[in-house]
Amino acid sequence: MKHVDSALTHLVCPECGKQFEADETQTYCQECRSPLLARYNLDAARKTLTRENLQERGKGIWRWSEILPVRSQAYRISLGEGGTPLLPAENLGKDLGMKALFIKDEAGNPTGSFKARGLAVAVARAIELGLRNFVIPTAGNAGGALAAYAARARAKAFIFMPMDAPQSNQVEVRIAGAELTLVDGLISDAAKQANAAAQEHGWFDVSTFKEPYRCEGKKTMGLELAESFGWELPDVIIYPTGGGTGLVGMWKAFDELEELGLIGSKRPRMVSVQATGCAPIVRAYQENNERAIFWEGAHTVASGLRVPGVFADRLVLRAIRESKGTALAVSDEQILTSQKLMAEREGIFAAPEGAATLAGLEQLLANDWIDKEERVVLFNTGSGLKYLT
Ligand SMILES: *Cc1c(COP(=O)(O)O)cnc(C)c1O
Ligand SMILES: [Zn+2]
Repeated sequence: MKHVDSALTHLVCPECGKQFEADETQTYCQECRSPLLARYNLDAARKTLTRENLQERGKGIWRWSEILPVRSQAYRISLGEGGTPLLPAENLGKDLGMKALFIKDEAGNPTGSFKARGLAVAVARAIELGLRNFVIPTAGNAGGALAAYAARARAKAFIFMPMDAPQSNQVEVRIAGAELTLVDGLISDAAKQANAAAQEHGWFDVSTFKEPYRCEGKKTMGLELAESFGWELPDVIIYPTGGGTGLVGMWKAFDELEELGLIGSKRPRMVSVQATGCAPIVRAYQENNERAIFWEGAHTVASGLRVPGVFADRLVLRAIRESKGTALAVSDEQILTSQKLMAEREGIFAAPEGAATLAGLEQLLANDWIDKEERVVLFNTGSGLKYLT
C-alpha cells in the first residue's frame, strides 16, 4: 500500500474547547477532567480516503490511516486487528421475529477481544512520540492487549489487574513478558495503584480515556460497520459498555465519515447495555444526569462491564442522547442464558459482555423500543474462551 499521511491536526477538550498540540504527549484536560478528542483535516483526508481507494487497501485498522493519529508507516504496528466479520444472525433473528439482525464479532481480534484495536493505536502513537514504558489498570482484556502490543513494539508494560480477573488475562500478560500486579479490589482500586506507579516511575498511563488514542483505535469499529453496510448505517447498535470507549469512538467516527462525504446524516440509535450489578451509565441516563456517579459494590460476571467510575461519562451519555438511543441493564443470569443461546443458535461463543447485548435486545423488543423490521447490530466484544476458569 502507498504511504498514507495521517491528517491529524490537534486535540480538543470537548468540555472547554481548549486545543492541545497533537505532536506532544498528551493525557486529558486537567481543568475539566475530560478526555481529549483527536481532530483531523478532513478536507485533506477526503482526497485519498475514498470508496475506490479503500477497495485497494488491505483489511484491518490501518486502512483508515488518514483518520488515525500515527504519522509514520514504520510505527503502524499490527497483529492483524480489525476487519472482523459482520455476521447475519439469521437463526436468532428468526427466533425473535426480526428481519435484519447482525453480530459484529470482535472475538477474532488478536488477544481475543476488541481491546486490540484501541491498544494497537495508543501504543503505536505513544511510541512514535518517544514513549517506551506503559502502565494500565485493567479488568483483564485491556491488559492482555497492552502486553501483546508492547511486546510487538519492544516496549515495557506494567499491568494492574483485580485479583478476580479471568485466569486467561493473567496468563496472557505474563507470557508476553509484561509485569503483572494483582490488586485486591476493583478496577478502580487497580487504577489508584497504577496511577501511583506511573507518577513514581514516569510511565505512560494508557487507562481508558486518560490518553486520546485508544478511542481512535476503537472508532474503526464504526468505520467498518459503515463500509460493511454499503455506507448506510444500521438503525440500532447495541454495545456493552464499561468505560464507553467503543461507543464514543463509533459516534465520533460517524461524524467524520459524514464530513468525508462517505455517509449521509442518518445515524443509528446507540444503546448502552450494562450489568445490573454495575450500571452507572444506565442510572445516569434514567435520572437524566449529565454525569454518572461512582457505582458502589460493583459485581458482575462480565468483567469488562465492571467499571464503576466512567471517566468519559459525559461523552457516553451525550452519544446515547444525541442518537436517541437508550441505556439498560441486564442481570448476570440473563447474560449467561444469552451466552448459551448465542452459541447454540449461531455458533458464537461470546464473551459475557457480548452476550449481554442479546439480553438487552430481548428487553428492547419486549418494550417495542425496537421494531422488528429494523437493522440491528449486536457487538460481541470478545471470545468466551477467555473466561474459562
Ligand atoms: C473492555 C470491554 C468492554 C467494555 O468496553 P468499553 O469500550 O470500554 O466500554 C466490553 N467487552 C469486553 C469483552 C471488554 O473487554
Ligand atoms: Zn477542558
